[in-house]
Amino acid sequence: MVSSEMAPWAKTGGLADVVAGLPAALTRLGHRVTVVLPKYRGLDPTDCRVTTGEVSLGAVQQQVQWHTREGADHVRTVFVDCPAMFDRAGYYGAGGQDFADNADRFGLLAVAALDFAEADGAAAPTVVHAHDWQSGLVPTLLRTQPRRWPRLSRAGLVFTIHNLAYQGRFSKDVVPRLALDWRVFTMEGGEFWNDFSYLKCGLAYSDYTTTVSPRYAVETLTPEFGYGFEGALQSLGERYLGILNGIDTTIWNPETDPLLPAHFSASDLAGKRECKRALLNQFYLPQGDDALARPVVAIVSRLVAQKGFDWIYEAADELMALDATWVVLGTGETKYEQMWQAMHDRHPSRVGVYFGFDEGRAHLAEAGADLFLMPSLFEPCGLNQMYSLRYGTVPVVHAVGGLDDTIRTYRPNARHANGFKFTNGSGAELAATMRQALRLFHNPVQWARLMSEGMADDHSWDQAAREYVRVYKRARRDARDLR
Ligand code: ADP
Repeated sequence: MVSSEMAPWAKTGGLADVVAGLPAALTRLGHRVTVVLPKYRGLDPTDCRVTTGEVSLGAVQQQVQWHTREGADHVRTVFVDCPAMFDRAGYYGAGGQDFADNADRFGLLAVAALDFAEADGAAAPTVVHAHDWQSGLVPTLLRTQPRRWPRLSRAGLVFTIHNLAYQGRFSKDVVPRLALDWRVFTMEGGEFWNDFSYLKCGLAYSDYTTTVSPRYAVETLTPEFGYGFEGALQSLGERYLGILNGIDTTIWNPETDPLLPAHFSASDLAGKRECKRALLNQFYLPQGDDALARPVVAIVSRLVAQKGFDWIYEAADELMALDATWVVLGTGETKYEQMWQAMHDRHPSRVGVYFGFDEGRAHLAEAGADLFLMPSLFEPCGLNQMYSLRYGTVPVVHAVGGLDDTIRTYRPNARHANGFKFTNGSGAELAATMRQALRLFHNPVQWARLMSEGMADDHSWDQAAREYVRVYKRARRDARDLR
């Protein structure tokens, strides 16, 4: 696998969790997996074997070290060390600006990964799985320059889209600069509205393209969710499908989670109250009996438009009038930080905010809250709603993508409901759904049923990993038959 993120090493979002959880599940099924990712600043893996070489892609010529590490879960991780490219203040940019040379940086990652596999003493990979635009050149190079990596020439190529909103879109100057064949700059290749898109490359040159939920796979075939890629995705036909992400149930387990002050399970929820108290404390909110009886609504999210903050803004007055306490953990755009800061300033005892990336607070929010709000405009899969389910925290979501696939909405007499969802996105609908959810919170029997339905859902990786294996097998067969 080639990826720009992998938990716990480098993470900005769900991609990192997937690239940690899926390989581990695959090794449990008996497969061997190697993940290649950049060695960013501050990333210092120990016990590595180090090899050195020169990586070349047109104008990009760099001395590189590969730091190879065997993980306890039998996943082999290879960190590409190239300070000129990756020893920087951010992964993709700094100060709100993308790095100007991202095409070069992730072009280098692709070649470094392929060169590693070519020189590797272990058996040649049977499948190469690339994730998101950052590794879109991996299948492109293998298909357009196969003689450079003969050991990989028969490998099945799989590409996974974690979020179509990030497209790795660059000027077409990239093509000659990286000495790519101009054939890649066609509608069937990486050309995208007269630019060059690494994401388009990824889906154009792979045997199979997957995305992270069945619903998002269908949605992305339409102009509303397809970002201009809908035509390219449609043309893939059966070679494009959605596989719902799993979650790492060893890390996200309320019975053992080391980041929680108390543990709990579906049959013994006492520890959840302790977590609620700790959560209120960590967000500097009152912790008296009143506060503990009042429902806590959590948001853990990148603070970007995708996550539905404009609807929250629209409905802010109505939401703040509800009898609930809010905790918000996130990083991202300043305007959304300001929005939440203003809500906190107006309602200091009802709105707690923390602007930063904090794993401990994220776990505590999932465990200590009663409800989890995720009103995303679109959501390829979403992990937080699955963590919430496991922690007995009832999700309130917009019915899109993976949110729609994982949440079964409450209706009176509905069996197996595990949360609430609204379908026509708007601030008013969000507020109405929150109101309905908070009303049900005060019905302990019904609420307990919702919680236990969610806690019983199985979103472990094993199921998803089996589906990926089926795709890998098909990709391998196609690679053998077609090339
Ligand atoms: P996305 O990938 O679009 O960001 P997901 O719900 O798929 O959304 O995954 C988000 C992941 O990032 C989850 O594991 C979530 O807990 C984590 N996360 C997001 N923001 C923060 C934060 N501020 N602090 C800690 N973890 C966060």
